[in-house]
Amino acid sequence: MRKNIAVIRGDGIGPEIVDQALLVLNRVAELYGHEFAYTDVDMGGCAIDKYGDPLPQHELDKCCAADSVLLGAVGGPKWNDVPGSMRPEKGLLRLRAGMGVYSNNRPAKIWPQLADASPLKKSIVDKGIDFIIVRELIGGIYFGKHETFEENGEKVSVDELRYSEEEIRRIGRIGFETAQKRGKKLCSVEKSNVLDSSRLWKKVMHELAAEYPDVELSDMLVDNCAMQIVKDPSQFDVIVTENMFGDILSDEASMITGSIGMIPSSSLGATGCGLYEPIHGSAPDIAGQDIANPIGTILSAAMMLRFSFSMAEEADCIENAVSAVLTAGYRTGDILPADGNATKVGCREMGRLIIENLTKG
Ligand code: NAD
Repeated sequence: MRKNIAVIRGDGIGPEIVDQALLVLNRVAELYGHEFAYTDVDMGGCAIDKYGDPLPQHELDKCCAADSVLLGAVGGPKWNDVPGSMRPEKGLLRLRAGMGVYSNNRPAKIWPQLADASPLKKSIVDKGIDFIIVRELIGGIYFGKHETFEENGEKVSVDELRYSEEEIRRIGRIGFETAQKRGKKLCSVEKSNVLDSSRLWKKVMHELAAEYPDVELSDMLVDNCAMQIVKDPSQFDVIVTENMFGDILSDEASMITGSIGMIPSSSLGATGCGLYEPIHGSAPDIAGQDIANPIGTILSAAMMLRFSFSMAEEADCIENAVSAVLTAGYRTGDILPADGNATKVGCREMGRLIIENLTKG
């Protein structure tokens, strides 16, 4: 299969970690007979330096024309003082809007080899943590009307939480389709005991369930879900929820898994073209030193294969290689255990070890 991937290296550690992910993709292409073509895209601080704009239209066009986009990270102290509309992060917002990605998908997965890094009790971690939160990204209370006015001599603020059936249906489909590609269990999270928007959410999810008979749908109130994520995260496969609930729950979920350098993410819209990136930033404090952890970016590339290119076996191949390298005791500095009982490696060496462990199943 031939796929065109737009590649945004960005700033800080972005170029180092993306280069390792591309080397992994190249080896996967060799093993499975695919062809991945890469188009370089400038975004963030490097685009400000080059074009005076964090994401010029011609660079956004390259992303929209690609089969998917792989991003390292953008930003850094060099651009802290540029005007708000010109900041590197504006490029990211413009990219998400330009690509129309309305679904953010963040896995919470604990690698058994890194279980000590979780703040949860060992007895809970030992049951396994491996789920994805599918969060609606461009609707709900963050995008409703916001107003503050005077009433009876005091200030009053109102934030509107609005969802249409279609907005719920399209994110619901991503939830069901994600579950189909994993353990076939979908938990819809809302607050239907209080909110009208949640009652509509629940109704639409149950209507959709008829179209996905292979997926088992359950409902959970958001307050209970926040408790269950720390009490027994092993019960979850895929969680689908609205924007604000997903914002809060996905941060909670990433905390219980340990290091920020390990976690990938995807953002998807109406087309298969997705945006794949690690959840961390450009880590300017360690940039250019060959010590960054490339695994979050490498796993983002694996998500791209699984969710945008339907290459499940190839994605498994990458995840298995990461697991093998961790089992063999290799660690970048950020995931080094406190007792130092591991082999410390840099960014390039971690990439090389993962490539060495890629084997066709
Ligand atoms: P950060 O995630 O870049 O770094 C936080 C800490 O985690 C730092 O100590 C860093 O060294 C460490 N870290 C992060 N990724 C790592 C990795 N792969 N391996 C090893 N250690 C890693 O967050 P920050 O310091 O708040 O932000 C730095 C810059 O990144 C800012 O300009 C911010 O705006 C930007 N940012 C960009 C994105 C993005 O591009 N999506 C996201 C968040 C922050």
